[in-house]
Amino acid sequence: MLSKDPLAIYRQEELAIEAFKDYRLKKGVICKKCGGTNHYWLASKHQFQCKNCRFRTTLQSGTILEGSKLPVSYFFIALHLLRDNNNNLTVLEFQQQTRHKYIDPLYDFLKKVKSYVKTEDKNSILIIFLEVASKVLYA
Ligand SMILES: [Zn+2]
Repeated sequence: MLSKDPLAIYRQEELAIEAFKDYRLKKGVICKKCGGTNHYWLASKHQFQCKNCRFRTTLQSGTILEGSKLPVSYFFIALHLLRDNNNNLTVLEFQQQTRHKYIDPLYDFLKKVKSYVKTEDKNSILIIFLEVASKVLYA
């Protein structure tokens, strides 16, 4: 049975981490130490490791999520809601959908995501998520 809540799948943090990792690999991870572009994924640490110099890059480092302590899943939840609401999404609606206890950290986060999708394609990012989800859930 499919869930009636279309966001249920996006709320799964493990899927979100996996999808954000794939998204980053697709965009290309660049080592801050040596400039290398080939990386391993250290699943247990949620970090990339440079194949050349072994320097580690966190999942969020150098991305829109850098400095955010919010779950990675919130990124995909925001993208989905923005896509379905023609880019209209208030912080209050976002809080209701994420069920996050505090609204304060969501202001900055949503502002960043809204500005991010001006230049990035929401659909192609969400497709990466759904591909990862179908691999993991139906493997
Ligand atoms: Zn390196």
